[in-house]
Amino acid sequence: MLRRALRLGLGRGLLGRGLGTWRGDSTLDWDGKVSDIKKKIQSVLPGGAWNPLYDTSHLPPEHSDVVIVGGGVLGLSVAYWLKRLEKRRGAIQVLVVERDYTYSQASTGLSVGGIRQQFSLPENIQLSLFSVDFLRNINEYLAVVDDPPLDLQFNPSGYLLLASEKGAAIMENNVKVQRQEGAKVCLMSPEQLRNKFPWINTEGVALASYGLEDEGWFDPWCLLQGLRRKVQSMGVLFCHGEVTRFISSSNRMETASGEEVTLKRIHEVHVKMDRSLEYQPVECAIVINAAGAWSGQIAELAGIGKGPPGTLQGTKLPVEPRKRYVYLWHCPQGPGLETPFVIDSSGAYFRREGLGNNYLGSCSPTEEEEPDPGNLEVDHGFFQDKVWPHLAQRVPAFETLKVNLPPCGWACRQTADSEVLRRRPRLKRMMAWDPRTDP
Ligand SMILES: Cc1cc2nc3c(=O)[nH]c(=O)nc-3n(C[C@H](O)[C@H](O)[C@H](O)COP(=O)(O)OP(=O)(O)OC[C@H]3O[C@@H](n4cnc5c(N)ncnc54)[C@H](O)[C@@H]3O)c2cc1C
Repeated sequence: MLRRALRLGLGRGLLGRGLGTWRGDSTLDWDGKVSDIKKKIQSVLPGGAWNPLYDTSHLPPEHSDVVIVGGGVLGLSVAYWLKRLEKRRGAIQVLVVERDYTYSQASTGLSVGGIRQQFSLPENIQLSLFSVDFLRNINEYLAVVDDPPLDLQFNPSGYLLLASEKGAAIMENNVKVQRQEGAKVCLMSPEQLRNKFPWINTEGVALASYGLEDEGWFDPWCLLQGLRRKVQSMGVLFCHGEVTRFISSSNRMETASGEEVTLKRIHEVHVKMDRSLEYQPVECAIVINAAGAWSGQIAELAGIGKGPPGTLQGTKLPVEPRKRYVYLWHCPQGPGLETPFVIDSSGAYFRREGLGNNYLGSCSPTEEEEPDPGNLEVDHGFFQDKVWPHLAQRVPAFETLKVNLPPCGWACRQTADSEVLRRRPRLKRMMAWDPRTDP
């Protein structure tokens, strides 16, 4: 501990030299002496737990079996399942490294918190069916003794996907796959749609699919905090820092067919400590890349994508940050409590937010319109020009929005507290998102 403290204070090289010389040239028991000095100082000063030389409680351990890069919902979920599946308590040491505990730019707390079964790939549907069970029984999974139960504010409500003539056949096929996997989804004609949701303008809609069960939305910030609380209680360690480097070793091996291959393995992770130029090395056996929109960069740190083109090593992890806006608006004449999570054929989407005629929604920009993901400023014009026209066309009650709503904005960088964000009426939110992590 002390050596690590000194390493912080004096730098790595100096420490190595300094202690080495002391040890080599004299018979002093340096560690024992320092321990005695610390005990003496502690005995004369108030506050027994106070470390007079350096508080190292924020540092990561020197070793951890698994290091998880990123403490968003995916990182915490991996930590949870690793601990849950371990055979003996404490068998696997897990460290989560997160560089921003306000989560000001992380997708998790700032997403729109929806869960649906309506995907095209069986794997996604299976994941979602499992996830909805997890969410419904959250306190069976994430309860912590003596702590209050979690309330995810789960709002059961179907997703309503609208297809044009062009997309109708694909929708029909998708619903077939969804049903095969056990999801409860129905197809609706425009007439059925009008009967069930009279506030929808069905012009241009050829077919709709509607989730009858296991869909809705919840508070993702609460899920994040619940996972964090739980994994901490299970012995997972956390470190506030940024993973900046991996140290690897290579071994040459022969495959069963006699081919010589080189196996590269990360055995050390460097964690740059918050507000410090110092880094801490953590020896490990496994690294999990759960860095969300930044996963591509983490993969690159590990050398993935850096090899010759056309080889496995030369293949980049296809993840890069994309900037997305989420807008929140108020519309007294808007659709009521039975409003599903609507995804229009244009790509625009919206859902209710709370009970007071507030709605949130947006749409993704085209490839040509992709905004610079380097800053987190809200583009108010995007709502007026690209989102609102689709919303107003599909829900005539939203016609009034453009004239009634002066642009008022909120950049997510300012807070990660989605509860605060959500309570603000007519606010616009924005965040970095890689759509490929959310197919
Ligand atoms: C606008 C929007 C709406 C969305 N809506 C939905 C939805 O309705 N339903 C749904 O299921 N999904 C939705 N998503 C997607 C969902 O939010 C993400 O898939 C999910 O939150 C990703 O979680 P994550 O843990 O991978 O990433 P994140 O939550 O982004 O966490 C990654 C973490 O890694 C940390 N990190 C990065 N690099 C390093 C480093 N070098 N060292 C240490 N830490 C590092 C970051 O600080 C961050 O906290 C939405 C996303 C957006 C942007």
